[in-house]
Amino acid sequence: MRVVMKFGGSAVANGEKIKRVANLVERSKEAADNMEIVVVTSAIYAVTDTIYEQANRIAEECKEENVKEFLVELQEKHDEAAYVAIDDAQVLERVKNEIRTRMTEMEKALTGICLLGELTLRSLDYIGSFGERLAAPILAGAIQSAGIDAVHFTGGDVGIITNAEYGSAQLMGSVEQAVRARIMPLLGDMIPVVCGFTGETQEGKITTLGRGGSDYTATIIGAAIDADEIWLWKDTAGIMSADPKRIKNARKIPYMSYIEAMELSYFGAAVLHPRAIEPVMKKKIPIRVKNLLDPDDEGTLIGEELEKTKKAAKAITLIENTSIVNIAGTGIRSISDIASRIFSVLAAKNVDIIMISHGSSERTISLVIDSAQLERAIDAIQSIHAVDTVIRDLTSDSNVCTVGVVGVGMAGTVGVAGKVFSALGNEGISVKMISQGSSEFNISFVVQKDEAYKAAQAIHDVFEMGS
Ligand code: ASP
Ligand code: MG
Repeated sequence: MRVVMKFGGSAVANGEKIKRVANLVERSKEAADNMEIVVVTSAIYAVTDTIYEQANRIAEECKEENVKEFLVELQEKHDEAAYVAIDDAQVLERVKNEIRTRMTEMEKALTGICLLGELTLRSLDYIGSFGERLAAPILAGAIQSAGIDAVHFTGGDVGIITNAEYGSAQLMGSVEQAVRARIMPLLGDMIPVVCGFTGETQEGKITTLGRGGSDYTATIIGAAIDADEIWLWKDTAGIMSADPKRIKNARKIPYMSYIEAMELSYFGAAVLHPRAIEPVMKKKIPIRVKNLLDPDDEGTLIGEELEKTKKAAKAITLIENTSIVNIAGTGIRSISDIASRIFSVLAAKNVDIIMISHGSSERTISLVIDSAQLERAIDAIQSIHAVDTVIRDLTSDSNVCTVGVVGVGMAGTVGVAGKVFSALGNEGISVKMISQGSSEFNISFVVQKDEAYKAAQAIHDVFEMGS
C-alpha cells in the first residue's frame, strides 16, 4: 500500500506529540512488507502565526532586539521539541545543528527586514516557510530514532514548483511529473518527510501555497505518485457534522464526496485547504481524515461517489468574523459595468468575497467578506468613480456570522430551503442575506452574530445531522 500521511500543527505541537507521530509512522510502516509512506508535516502548532506576527512587528518597530528576542524563543521551542522527540544522541545532535543553521538564515532575513522597515510578500513567504522547515528535521529525526530511515525535504526539493504569486502560489504545469520523478526513487525502506505549505519558483525562490497549505502539499504528492490513499491526521474524530464544542449531538461523518468536502472547505470549515481536493479528483484517490487519538478508527473517507446516505444536508459550518457590505443606489440598475468595477477593485486589493447577492430590483449589491478585510474593501469601493453619483449608499455590518449548510442530497430535493428557513423562523431568528449556488450543494445565509449558534443548532436538529 502506498500512503501519503499529513500531520497538522496540533499533531506536532511539541516533542511528545512528535514522538507519538514518529511511533505511529513506524508502526504503520512495519504493519505490512510493501508499505510505502510519504510524510508531510506542518509547522509546530501556532509557529506560523507567530512568525508572521513577529515579522510584521519587526518591520514596523525596526528594533534589532525584537529579532534577537524572537529567535531565542523560537530556537528554544524547537530545541526542546527535538530533545523530547529524539532519543538517539547522534541524531539529536545533527538535528540541533540543522535548527541552528535555520536560525542563522532567519536572523539574516529578519535583520534585513528590520533595517529596511519593509516586508514584501516575497520575504513574507521566505520567512513563513521556516515553520515547516524547522519542524521537518525534528520529525525526520524522531522517525530515525524510532528505527526507520527518514530524510526531510522542502516542497521545492520534491518538485513543487510554482509561479511567483507569493502567499498563494499556483502550481506550474510540470509539477506532477517532477514530484513523481523525485519521490518515486525514495519510496521503499526510507521515509521522505516533506515540509507542507512550501513551494519554490523556477528560480529557486521559496513560495507558499496559502494558509493551511500542508493538506494541499499532501494531495499534490499523493496524486503525483498514484498513492492508494491520503491520510490527513488530526486530533478530532474526522470531519464532523458541526463544531462539537458548540453544537449538541455533532457527530463524525463517515463518508463524504469530494464535492461536499470542497463546499465545506470553501466555507471556512477548518477541515481541508480549499484546493486540496483538486489534485486527487481526476485520479479518484480517496482522502481519509484520521484521528490521532484513535488511529485504528476509519475516520472520515472522502471519495468520488456522490452519496452514501439519504441525508439531504450533512454538515453545517459557521464563519465568524464576517461582515456584510451593502452597496446601494438607484443608478446601479442602469450602469451595467458597475458590478464588474466593484469586483475588479476588490480583486485588486485581494479581498476574498464569501457571498454575493444582487436582488432583482437591481438597486443593491450585498457582499459578505472577512471582517479583517473590511477596511480594505470599503477603501477600494470608495475609490470607484461612481461613489456619490451611482452608488449613493455604502454601509457595512460586522455584527454578523455566515452559516453554510452542505450536502449533495440537497440538489434537486424539494423543500430543503423551506426546511432551513422555517427552522430559523421557529426560533425567531431573522435572516439578513441568503445565497444558494446553482450546484445546490449548499445553502448559505447570514444572521446576527449572537444568534448564530442557535441557528446552527436548529438546522442541525431539523436535518437530524447528529444521527
Ligand atoms: N503552517 C501553515 C499554516 O499554519 C500550513 C499548514 O499548517 O497547513 O497555515
Ligand atoms: Mg491545517
